[in-house]
Amino acid sequence: MLTFPFSLADPIRYPGPPPQASDVVIIGGGVIGVTTALFLAKRNISVTLVEKGRIAAEQSSRNWGWIRKQGRDADELPIVIEACRLWRELAEESGEDIGLNQTGVTYLARSQKDLAGFDAFMKIAAEHDLDTRLIDGDETANLFEGASRRYAGAMVTPSDMRAEPWLAVPALARLAVRHGVKIVENCAARALELSAGRVSGVWTEAGLIATSSVLVAGGAWSSLFLRKHGISIPQLSVRATVAATGPLPEIHAGAAADAQIAFRRRQDGGYTLAPGGSSQLSLGPDAFRHAPKYLPVLKANPLGMRYRLAAPAAFPDSWTTPRDWTPDGPSPFEAMRVLDPAPEHARLRAIEHDFQALFPQIGPVSLRTTWAGMIDAMPDVVPIVDRAQAIDGLFVATGMSGHGFGIGPGIGRVVADLIQGNDPGHRLHRFRLARFSDGSAIRPGPGL
Ligand SMILES: Cc1cc2nc3c(=O)[nH]c(=O)nc-3n(C[C@H](O)[C@H](O)[C@H](O)COP(=O)(O)OP(=O)(O)OC[C@H]3O[C@@H](n4cnc5c(N)ncnc54)[C@H](O)[C@@H]3O)c2cc1C
Repeated sequence: MLTFPFSLADPIRYPGPPPQASDVVIIGGGVIGVTTALFLAKRNISVTLVEKGRIAAEQSSRNWGWIRKQGRDADELPIVIEACRLWRELAEESGEDIGLNQTGVTYLARSQKDLAGFDAFMKIAAEHDLDTRLIDGDETANLFEGASRRYAGAMVTPSDMRAEPWLAVPALARLAVRHGVKIVENCAARALELSAGRVSGVWTEAGLIATSSVLVAGGAWSSLFLRKHGISIPQLSVRATVAATGPLPEIHAGAAADAQIAFRRRQDGGYTLAPGGSSQLSLGPDAFRHAPKYLPVLKANPLGMRYRLAAPAAFPDSWTTPRDWTPDGPSPFEAMRVLDPAPEHARLRAIEHDFQALFPQIGPVSLRTTWAGMIDAMPDVVPIVDRAQAIDGLFVATGMSGHGFGIGPGIGRVVADLIQGNDPGHRLHRFRLARFSDGSAIRPGPGL
């Protein structure tokens, strides 16, 4: 029986001990770590994946489950197009029902100004032959029958998909294990072991794993891990609140959002709801350190962020989280095995109210489950997918900035090739690690 959100009360499905040596070690059991491991194992590379808590217990099960091409940064688009194909193939190969459905994604426009805001993506969509189109107010009203609001129109991509994250990523982990990946849960990676400036192993809480290649796919924890090794990335984590209703009449089969609310039909007949607009950033040492890098994105959307004075203890950027530790003692990763922020209650009340007000025909809406997740944000809203120039054998795939679930298998395939020294097949310049230190201007990607 699957309970959600995942927590330490869930049994350890992949116990240790880890092996003493592995061709590749992956740090982090979210969608990025799991899919990279899977693609490497399919090529007969020995892979060990260490996860400090439980597979997919952080962002990769807590997300909305949108698999969208719509609204993507132009450089992410070829990877997410590949990811959509891979989702279908992997869902089939897993033999499990992960709730994958092609039901489309819609961005609703309340005004002509909102509609005009879609122009930039329409050009990108045309270059890639996407089925994205703009629809007028009447067609929008037909698509969302009974909506109490009259929309000016919408941008729609019918080929976009949805899946149930808390089913999908654990299913991919099981598939990875079938292909030979060794997963070890409850096993924090504490530090890299370096020999002559290159990776020679990973220190975990269960001992050293000798390896020549390591991927850091630690989501909101990646910056803390990398900083210990002298690599500074301006990654911050922001809290996003989500809720699931029980089963309701179907008002729309896909995923949709306006400025106020986002909703997605689930396969169990309920809706996953989230407030639109801003996320919440807790101020900590990293927030101050990296603030200048976030100015362009804040200028573009000044109301996009709300602030809290300090993160709870043991969060990645809390004031008391140690920034240094030794591999033979506990690290901050064991102190918080599952990052489980409390949802914001005012936002939950707003979601409940707004969804019911938008679709009065569904009757009273009650929230069955509520949760929050910490999104690993980057100042330009696109991830880092690169090898680290400073440390041979170290690879980084992190900072998915709130849209890493849908693109996950695409990034996993790309990173598997990077690690093997193959051509990754897509242009990765935009995602390079050095962009925050080589004097490049920060160029924010699309916000949603
Ligand atoms: C509320 C919310 C809604 C979202 N909605 C969508 C959506 O609809 N569509 C979409 O595409 N994306 C969405 N996202 C974003 C998406 O969920 C993430 O981008 C994606 O899951 C990131 O995957 P990841 O593997 O990089 O990180 P995570 O899933 O966060 O996994 C990282 C893992 O690394 C582990 N770890 C960290 N450090 C260590 C260590 N030192 N040792 C061992 N293990 C470690 C952590 O415990 C964690 O399990 C949403 C995110 C949130 C929070």
